[in-house]
Amino acid sequence: MLTTNLGLKTVNQRENFLGVSKNDDENLVEGGIEQPDIMHNPLEGLLAQRVGCIRCGWTEGLSLIPFNCLTVSLGRGKEYDIRDCLDDYMALETIEGVECAKCTLLRTKDQLHRLLEQIEEDDNIVKGPQAATVTSTLKSSAETRLQAVQEALDEEDFTEKVLSKKCHIPSKNRVSVTKSRQAVIARTPKSLVIHVNRSVFDEMTGTLRKNSAAVRFPASIDLGEWCL
Ligand SMILES: [Zn+2]
Repeated sequence: MLTTNLGLKTVNQRENFLGVSKNDDENLVEGGIEQPDIMHNPLEGLLAQRVGCIRCGWTEGLSLIPFNCLTVSLGRGKEYDIRDCLDDYMALETIEGVECAKCTLLRTKDQLHRLLEQIEEDDNIVKGPQAATVTSTLKSSAETRLQAVQEALDEEDFTEKVLSKKCHIPSKNRVSVTKSRQAVIARTPKSLVIHVNRSVFDEMTGTLRKNSAAVRFPASIDLGEWCL
């Protein structure tokens, strides 16, 4: 690309060249900011999280989430071992009311199939040129959408862009499901901070109170059990 640029002596070429050098500067600045990463935050670790849909089984890839501390909660007991708290933290949990792109596409596919069947049935009854034009427009639009939905399902491309732009599914028509979530430590921090959440919401009084249960912890913990 540089060779082609050198061969040109037009004003446009200069602009292009300026554009390139500007980008280079930006990269340098970015590199400069990233430099301190070598001495990165000793408290920062990475959690790997996997979220899967209970209805259709679709599992998103692992997402890596940086953390500075792990916040664990306590139950109603009087005494806890921090390792049990970590077990709870990493255990499979369910999250309700989460949008599932695959379930949404599967439902839209069903709806479009039914719509096309309906059009087919109506075709045998409705006569007249005007009605026929409306039907054929509706039919071709439904077919185009069905094709887009099928492609997204085949390619397992469930990005927001595909859902809203390609398949034209507005957010109000998305399917909400229960998903399972599981997390593990993908990269341990140099120093692990465990935050024990002792705040308890008292439903009777509507106030927060402190959970004063004892939390025991060993002098050293092998984190292997909760790591990727
Ligand atoms: Zn689903």
